[in-house]
Amino acid sequence: MPTQAPFVIVGAGLAGAKAAETLREEGFDGPVVLVGAEPERPYERPPLSKQYLLGRADRDNAFVHDAGWYAEHDVELRTGVRATRLDPAAHRLTLDTGEELSYARVLLATGASARRLPVPGADLDGVRYLRTLADADRLVTDLTGGGRRVVVVGAGWIGLEVAAAARSHGNTVTVVEPQPTPLHAVLGAEMGRVFARLHRDHGVELLTDTVVREIRGSGGRVTSVVTDGHAGLPADLVVIGVGVVPDSQVAAAAGLEVDNGVVVDEALRSSAPDVYAAGDVASAFHPHHGRHVRVEHWANALNQGPAAARSMLGQEVAYDRVPYFFTDQYELGMEYSGLAGPGDTVVCRGDPDDGAFIAFWTADGRVTAGMNVNVWDVTAPIQQLIRSRRQVQPARLADPDTPLELLAG
Ligand SMILES: Cc1cc2nc3c(=O)[nH]c(=O)nc-3n(C[C@H](O)[C@H](O)[C@H](O)COP(=O)(O)OP(=O)(O)OC[C@H]3O[C@@H](n4cnc5c(N)ncnc54)[C@H](O)[C@@H]3O)c2cc1C
Repeated sequence: MPTQAPFVIVGAGLAGAKAAETLREEGFDGPVVLVGAEPERPYERPPLSKQYLLGRADRDNAFVHDAGWYAEHDVELRTGVRATRLDPAAHRLTLDTGEELSYARVLLATGASARRLPVPGADLDGVRYLRTLADADRLVTDLTGGGRRVVVVGAGWIGLEVAAAARSHGNTVTVVEPQPTPLHAVLGAEMGRVFARLHRDHGVELLTDTVVREIRGSGGRVTSVVTDGHAGLPADLVVIGVGVVPDSQVAAAAGLEVDNGVVVDEALRSSAPDVYAAGDVASAFHPHHGRHVRVEHWANALNQGPAAARSMLGQEVAYDRVPYFFTDQYELGMEYSGLAGPGDTVVCRGDPDDGAFIAFWTADGRVTAGMNVNVWDVTAPIQQLIRSRRQVQPARLADPDTPLELLAG
């Protein structure tokens, strides 16, 4: 009897691990191979810039499954192995071990890598990025004990969370950001200012409208950061958080449609037969938005991996979850749902100066996104409001006595 070709998952991150789990939960009893370039079994990244970086979380808490789970569920986990070539016509995958795997269906869950900062000196010792558990292990050692001068390049989510952790450890922190406020592209100026104030209140020197030109060092080690406004910000450590790049090289080389990630339809099928994509690497057609969306967030990996697995099994799938994100910085906890556009109007329920409020973004009177800051258990109605596309009067949105459930219908 010929052996059955496996379902292969490339990328042993959250999306890949959850896809493997779902294949088994759905009763698939054929072979499943999960190939991951990192040495660890699949883990979750959000703690790496929060509790783990603060030294308050155990390494073991980050893993998606117990070490024994893979063998128990007959999932062949291949860690420390990278897929280098995909041949969709022959249904074959080449690994960097030189092996070739035949597959029946393959899921690309290769995620994303930290974008490198293209300036002189970015390769000096003491310049760090934060994407992997190994990165976090190094960074927590760097930050613990305090007393260091840390320059964070980029006031995005990772940069701000690292700044908060670095301050909590007692380091001096400067954040350099080219935009007028932190998180400008996602939140706009008004809500970006909330995060600017938060960090300044915690002693961070925040330099906005400022571009890093060079990182300087002595004896191979970083000593300062040169910007368009500063001849040299003293630095013992530089942490770069300037976004991520989807890991779609294998897909592109295989001739798959790639455009800011692997292009997939709402069932997470790529342009090649039997090749699927999910998580940070996937630019998926989103039925609600009517366009392709690539979401770089935990909840998307958590839910899209299982959706892709069901699609691989031939089930009908239309992935249409509202994009969702969360962050924790100092005493601020926040959840964001939806996808605001650059021209959207912001309506606040509560006063941002009080530290607890909900911001809504609206276009044509319809809610496109909502951000709850230190207000909890409102994600479901906010997402319902976004999905409903109902027109809502700004005064009612702003009124804390009008239940969100009522507005969402
Ligand atoms: C420090 C940090 C904090 C974060 N905090 C939050 C947060 O607070 N909230 C939130 O919503 N999101 C957060 N995120 C984002 C979230 O972690 C990602 O969206 C999520 O990890 C994406 O999962 P994924 O499985 O798609 O990809 P990844 O987690 O990137 O996993 C992909 C895996 O595939 C491997 N791989 C790549 N290419 C190959 C190949 N050719 N062969 C084999 N393996 C390969 C990679 O090495 C990697 O291990 C954070 C991310 C980071 C880095």
